[in-house]
Amino acid sequence: MQTRDPLSLLESIFEKTPDLQTPCYIYDGVALELRLAELDRLFGDAFTLSFAIKSNPNAALVRRIAAATGHLDASSFFEVLRALEAGCPPARISYSGPGKRESELQRFIGCGAELVVEALDEVDMAARIAQAKGVVQKVLLRINPDGIPKGFGAKMSKNPSQFGIDEGQMAAAIAHIGARPGLDLTGYHIYAGSNCLDAGAIVENIANMTRIFGEAAALAGAPARKLIFGAGFGLPYHEGQADLDVAAVRDGIEASLAEIAANSLLAGAERALELGRWLVGPTGAMVATCLSGKESRGVRVAVCDAGFNVHLAACGMMGSVFQKNWPIHRLGPEPGGEAEYLLAGPLCTSIDTLARRITLPTLARGDRIAVLMSGAYGLTASPSGFISHPQAGEYLWTGDDLLDISSERVATHDAELPRSDG
Ligand SMILES: *Cc1c(COP(=O)(O)O)cnc(C)c1O
Repeated sequence: MQTRDPLSLLESIFEKTPDLQTPCYIYDGVALELRLAELDRLFGDAFTLSFAIKSNPNAALVRRIAAATGHLDASSFFEVLRALEAGCPPARISYSGPGKRESELQRFIGCGAELVVEALDEVDMAARIAQAKGVVQKVLLRINPDGIPKGFGAKMSKNPSQFGIDEGQMAAAIAHIGARPGLDLTGYHIYAGSNCLDAGAIVENIANMTRIFGEAAALAGAPARKLIFGAGFGLPYHEGQADLDVAAVRDGIEASLAEIAANSLLAGAERALELGRWLVGPTGAMVATCLSGKESRGVRVAVCDAGFNVHLAACGMMGSVFQKNWPIHRLGPEPGGEAEYLLAGPLCTSIDTLARRITLPTLARGDRIAVLMSGAYGLTASPSGFISHPQAGEYLWTGDDLLDISSERVATHDAELPRSDG
């Protein structure tokens, strides 16, 4: 894959627009195109790509991604609206996530998009609403597998979970859906682990999903029309980690693809490979400015204008047990000299640290730092209201221009949905 140097891009952006306010997120639209092309080159013959909107819901990005991928996954009702706004046809949208409100299903059902059911009471509610509206709602059953290979950073299987229906309850759930006339079981969905850098573990996980999908279709006694494979492609966030070998994943899944082709209940199904972070993570950086520097008990402390209010994950607070430093760099010409820093945010709590024991070129007030790998689960995954600092902006580099896309984050919940008979 063609790669781009994110630091020189950021430096040239700040050279041209020195007044750009921080903290902000800057996304490289050209890098995004390259990653989309890479996924298409490797997986386009075998899968539709499904983008998980929650990894970066900014409308300017979702529009670009929707134009290139065949499918969007919405994790909330708002994200369904965002997918529609982005121009994605309803039949290309799935609505997943635990805890859907009745008022949301009232609006959603019949819009033509697929409902990913996560619990039996949700199945009942959806069936009731569909019947009252006189429509048939397409549903995908989300199955939570009993196991997932080692190597997945975030796991949703094995333990008690709000996600999907346990593999052991699959038969009962399929019968339950089959008995409800307002619902049409079109297929199955599994997303049980993520942030995996081990191609072998991803291959094994896809083989396991293939087996489960085969068993589900056999239990239903009907061909599946859609199968969604939660890919779990990970990113090297920390020192010593290497990029996931996506080409090795492609080679490794041949056996699963052959198994699907040989099974008449699966062969005709549309297959979607669903992911978020791998696509957008490396295309974004969070840029902050140093506001203060001092020495405390023998350690240099630099205080920045962004902490976990802007970037929860880099502060080690999004699912990590220990804080490990993210790829953080000082922008601009080398000042000469370097030092080890405690890099703190502006929040009045001692847990607000962007990095600990990080060696950086000497920092002075006004210097900018960039946290790379920040295009996924950045701003909207952070508690931006805490302590009322200014909201971070969002910018998109198109290759020619820097667009201010801050206003495209705003969530609106009052749009009308289309009507379709499915
Ligand atoms: C979050 C999510 C994903 C994407 O996970 P990544 O780690 O960003 O690739 C895919 N599918 C579903 C249902 C999700 O909720």
